[in-house]
Amino acid sequence: MTAAHLDLELPTLTPEAEELRREVRAFVAEERSAGRLPPPRRIGLGFDREMSRRIAARGWIGLTWPKQYGGQGRSALERYVLNEELLAAAVPVGAHWVADRQSGPVLLKFGTEAQRQHYLPRIAAGDLTFSIGMSEPESGSDLASLKARAERIDGGWRINGRKIWTTNAHHAQYMIVLVRTSPATSSRHEGISQLIVDMSLPGITISPIVSMANEHDFNEVLFEDVVVGDDALIGKEGNGWNQVSAELAFERSGPERWLSSFRLVSELIGALGPETRQSSQEELGRLLSHLLALRQLSMSVASMLEQGRSPNLEASIVKDLGTKFEQEVVRVVRNIVSAENLIANGRQERLHALLVHAQQYAPAFTIRGGTNEILRGIIAKGIGLR
Ligand SMILES: Cc1cc2nc3c(=O)[nH]c(=O)nc-3n(C[C@H](O)[C@H](O)[C@H](O)COP(=O)(O)OP(=O)(O)OC[C@H]3O[C@@H](n4cnc5c(N)ncnc54)[C@H](O)[C@@H]3O)c2cc1C
Repeated sequence: MTAAHLDLELPTLTPEAEELRREVRAFVAEERSAGRLPPPRRIGLGFDREMSRRIAARGWIGLTWPKQYGGQGRSALERYVLNEELLAAAVPVGAHWVADRQSGPVLLKFGTEAQRQHYLPRIAAGDLTFSIGMSEPESGSDLASLKARAERIDGGWRINGRKIWTTNAHHAQYMIVLVRTSPATSSRHEGISQLIVDMSLPGITISPIVSMANEHDFNEVLFEDVVVGDDALIGKEGNGWNQVSAELAFERSGPERWLSSFRLVSELIGALGPETRQSSQEELGRLLSHLLALRQLSMSVASMLEQGRSPNLEASIVKDLGTKFEQEVVRVVRNIVSAENLIANGRQERLHALLVHAQQYAPAFTIRGGTNEILRGIIAKGIGLR
């Protein structure tokens, strides 16, 4: 493998980005002291509409979008810094996360002017939750085999089909649904389109799926003769596969792909006493050096996004390495907790609760957003191995 295949370059953070980091830290400290940000007891983004609105009030949702759509016109690297700080501090950002990370950017890139004006300012205000309607009961990794379809009717589309594992569909006002709109001819990737669907429309049934951690985050969503207008189509009819591929680079490369279990490390460090064994310190040091390398990789991808590129290969590498790291953190923290006498400073009990939750949640790290086996296929192709 040569550097030319990957084309990664480590960007330098600007003074504006470092200033933003200070502002976010001050915000987090303020939220903590006001009692609005209790220490986390679970892994996951957390859903808190009011928190999203307070973040929005700072101008931090849609940070990179043009001002005319409610954004701030700032850089992808500044957005990177913002998200790194919010995630490291376990701020509950789930209410706006998907809309900010990928639905908004998809509309910005492929949507009509009317769609941009209608949705983007409301996302930037923290008022909208979007969900991702890609996976189906028989189509996960092999997404192009999807069966949900939309047929053309006078003035719009009629949707039928079933989506599954749809995170936050029960909170979302909208879902961007991937459907077949015309038969595949030469390639299965043809004839697929993205439609934006108002989740309050008749014909939509949302059924909860309770996870192994006994939580309701995702759902199965049934579409029965759901009618949407012409204005629901995003981009060109039949171009959905290309659009989704561009979207996945946003979904796969951010700090949420290697920071999910970081809160365990922070809690652990706070609970370790002066007698901590050398072996535990070494294990922690190894984790942190790995974390720094992942961070550099993830920042490099943010810089490629900034240049308007679609770094699917590089984003897949971040997600593959990052999610494995997240699982490794859970294993290492568990080993250290069982070997050490933690100091009784109140963090101990919280750390245990977090660890129990992390162990039930961790398998999802390498599945959501595309499994690692699939990512490795993309990587192998990208570097010319298949
Ligand atoms: C926490 C969580 C949240 C999610 N949220 C959403 C969401 O909001 N919206 C959404 O659309 N989806 C969501 N998903 C679904 C997720 O994208 C799919 O679970 C994932 O793409 C895998 O699809 P599948 O579950 O159908 O597994 P399958 O595709 O059936 O795969 C089963 C196993 O076989 C392996 N496998 C499959 N094909 C190959 C191959 N060609 N080569 C090698 N190995 C292969 C896979 O790696 C996996 O280990 C979520 C999943 C999780 C866990």
